[in-house]
Amino acid sequence: MSNPLTAPFSRLALRLAFGLATAGAAWAQASLPVRWDELLATDFPAAIQKAQGTCLLPIGVIEKHGPHLPLGTDVINVRQAAIRGAELEYAIVFPEYYFGQIFEARHQPGTVAYSARLQLEVLQETADEMARNGCKKVILVNGHGGNSHLLPYFAQSQLDRQRDYVVYVCSGGVRSTAPERTRTPPAADGHAGVSETSRVMVSRPELVRMDRAESQSGADLKRQDLPQGVFTGIFWYSRFPEHYAGDASGAQRLIGELDLKASADNIASVIRSVKADRVSLRLQNEFQEKARRPLETKQ
Ligand SMILES: [Zn+2]
Repeated sequence: MSNPLTAPFSRLALRLAFGLATAGAAWAQASLPVRWDELLATDFPAAIQKAQGTCLLPIGVIEKHGPHLPLGTDVINVRQAAIRGAELEYAIVFPEYYFGQIFEARHQPGTVAYSARLQLEVLQETADEMARNGCKKVILVNGHGGNSHLLPYFAQSQLDRQRDYVVYVCSGGVRSTAPERTRTPPAADGHAGVSETSRVMVSRPELVRMDRAESQSGADLKRQDLPQGVFTGIFWYSRFPEHYAGDASGAQRLIGELDLKASADNIASVIRSVKADRVSLRLQNEFQEKARRPLETKQ
């Protein structure tokens, strides 16, 4: 039984304590970092709740980027866009990931090319581990052109069995449509060209060596003579053996800033749409139910 004299004070103390705790929780929610590796384990459940189970897996690779950009260009650029996008619309951003497809640059120094089997296994186990930790919506944010077949294939392969999460794929690099940006000729803007160089001028300016940009050629050698629509794995080497496509000399920090903003805005809008998506997991489950008994599927 409470003491009638102290009871009002206890209630006041309780209200104060509750108020402080609520304010503390609100403050913690507002200040939660977006980076998985910067979160405390004690805050992780609140971060998952705030993200509504939506997490980003920015994917780059370690490969030569012309004679003038760092090997980690794709990792650096895609992470910067993903982190900015997640700061606009909260989502948790998985740590540095560079286990992508890059066989075509094996002849260049510093390239790290994991086997095809391992690329799929690491990606699957990473997605599984993200989902086990509450990321039921995993967005692969692609920062590397050589992954453009791998990632949709991985997403398709998610239908091989029932899962309690959905994999989405989106681009980590979108070009701005601002007038000062659209003046750049697209021909000069391939791998390690104007866009990527301008983006690194924003993300890690101290790593850009413009004095080396013209020491190698980014011209398309067009060494294969095959009809349009016929694909070979050697196509990239046949065109750009220096692992440089285009001409970085027109790169400017302003272009990088515009593209980074466009990319972050695009990622934020993808996060919003994915958070609102109530259909994909329901359809995945419905599909798996039917796939277990295909003869019962109405014909
Ligand atoms: Zn790149």
